[in-house]
Amino acid sequence: AVFDHPAFDDHEQVVFCSDAETGLRAIIAIHDTRLGPALGGCRMWAYGSSGEAVTDALRLSRGMTYKNSLAGLDLGGGKSVIIGDPGRDKTPALLAAFGRHVETLGGRYTTAEDVGISTEDMEQVATATSHARGTPATGLGDPSPYTALGILSGIKAALAHRTGSDEIAGRRIVLQGLGHVGWHLADLLAKEKARLVVADVDASTAERAEAAFGAERAEADSAHRIEADVFAPCALGAGLNARTIPELGAGIVAGAANNQLATEADGERLMARGVLYAPDYAINAGGVISIALSKPGGDDTAVMERVTAIGETLRQIFVRADADGLPTDVVADAIARERLERAGARADPL
Ligand code: NAD
Repeated sequence: AVFDHPAFDDHEQVVFCSDAETGLRAIIAIHDTRLGPALGGCRMWAYGSSGEAVTDALRLSRGMTYKNSLAGLDLGGGKSVIIGDPGRDKTPALLAAFGRHVETLGGRYTTAEDVGISTEDMEQVATATSHARGTPATGLGDPSPYTALGILSGIKAALAHRTGSDEIAGRRIVLQGLGHVGWHLADLLAKEKARLVVADVDASTAERAEAAFGAERAEADSAHRIEADVFAPCALGAGLNARTIPELGAGIVAGAANNQLATEADGERLMARGVLYAPDYAINAGGVISIALSKPGGDDTAVMERVTAIGETLRQIFVRADADGLPTDVVADAIARERLERAGARADPL
């Protein structure tokens, strides 16, 4: 019952896509186009049921509306999911079939990479649509280094707010997850002489990081407990919950993972414990900024400026949260909604 789904929440359009020849089954969700056509990545995942895929598409597309709004982009929120195991089911023909479906929307939705979909995969999608980004042909390619740069800027804003200085040197920072974003972030922090603690479920990745950045290594499942200045979750979502929040060893949480709070109550819980939380979609917008604003063959000066400005957005969130006595995630939502309400009409479906 899609219309009655708790996450349907004013979605403008949900498209179910299939292609018998390639086995494609995908869902494209367009949440809100008041700020412009929807932009959001495509996730490929072995969902247990099509219902799970609908839920994910609806939640993720709503999240993109808020992320794009807060990042100051003139873009709406949308997201797509392909149902299937990326390691087993992904073929060039399936990706092109997905691209053909994106093309039928005439630019109301632009896709890009997400979990399970690489830059090379997006190049396959782009063979069938002009509304695919995040490739070297459409701009700067892989968004992860820009996501990491935005996280660095956000960590500095949080340190400045909490301690009066944004100096990274000598700070103890715990990184949980050393994938595309986490690795770039570790590199940036090591160059600024942070004392790094690294954790990854993949032991060989953690060992490589230990050697590459002169870091200390920790267990993935207990990294949040380590006493530190900053805990940076850069793996999966829902890591901040009723069990982990009382155990947190850092006074600041600032990392890349999407949907870090398991429930709405967890923002309150963090505030009550005196932990300064950088709302996930505010701090991790560097990737979408690079996808939205970069041009083929262009340099990245304008993108770098906008990504670095994430620190200023967070400063404003922290100040308003203190003044109003509200959790930072509630304030981020309010700022994103205010911009949407000022924007007015939705994009013409034709
Ligand atoms: P990735 O898949 O490249 O890396 C994730 C890493 O986390 C892997 O090394 C994995 O082994 C590790 N990991 C998984 N579970 C873990 C656990 N329980 N504890 C410790 N490590 C664990 O992903 P990514 O592209 O680096 O993205 C990381 C997070 O940031 C995701 O939540 C993603 O949605 C979010 N994000 C990414 C971007 C981007 O530009 N790539 C942009 C915005 C948000």
